[in-house]
Amino acid sequence: MRRKVIIDGKLECSICHEHKPVGAFYRDRRASNGVKSWCKECYSKYLKNYKNERMIMRVPMFVRRLIKALDMIDKHSHKARENLALVESVLGEKK
Ligand SMILES: [Zn+2]
Repeated sequence: MRRKVIIDGKLECSICHEHKPVGAFYRDRRASNGVKSWCKECYSKYLKNYKNERMIMRVPMFVRRLIKALDMIDKHSHKARENLALVESVLGEKK
């Protein structure tokens, strides 16, 4: 990836393409110009999305494990089925 040059203490963000002061970028020692190519704003947005995606990915696994655990306790238990329905409804509402 080509690094952008700092002109008049400002740098173009490779995500939002806005020219922002160097202070709006995180420092990156490995980068030739010393800062990351994404501004802090774009970086935090990316991290937020990344976290949300991971949360969504984790939920079905958690549900599957819970279903299995409840199944193991008693396959014919009405209580287990009620609990399962409750969990599913709570997770469904969060979407
Ligand atoms: Zn940006």
